[in-house]
Amino acid sequence: MKCAYHDDREAVAVCVSCGAGLCPDCRTREGGKYYCDECAKTHEPIRVWPERAGGGLNVWSVCAWVLAMVGLWPGLEFLAIAGLVLGFVALGDIKARGYTQTGRAYAIAAVVIALTGLVVKFGLMFYSLYDVFQMSPWLNPFRYVQ
Ligand SMILES: [Zn+2]
Ligand SMILES: [Zn+2]
Repeated sequence: MKCAYHDDREAVAVCVSCGAGLCPDCRTREGGKYYCDECAKTHEPIRVWPERAGGGLNVWSVCAWVLAMVGLWPGLEFLAIAGLVLGFVALGDIKARGYTQTGRAYAIAAVVIALTGLVVKFGLMFYSLYDVFQMSPWLNPFRYVQ
């Protein structure tokens, strides 16, 4: 990183307020923190965080949503199950971060979509099995109880 005011000098500090790189001549130390000349005048509170904690969209929730949607496709039930699990992971992750991230709606949608898809599919599967039992007397377990 170069000094924001001298293109030919390496920055040795970063203004805690605006994030500008500062060479030894440009940095102003106040209260244990480095400011650029501009920010030292106003003592503007920190405007940029080099590493922002939390914030943004939760990645897990989006992944879960995508998996749940793709998992609706017949034969891709394992993706729906993965989306369901990942949805709960996302909810836990967002909770662990103190709800600083968005994407909770995606996680909830993923859980609902995945669950609905699985219930419908297993319902259909059971229904078709029931049909098979009805058509083939040899496979029908209900004949023993009649
Ligand atoms: Zn500054
Ligand atoms: Zn400089």
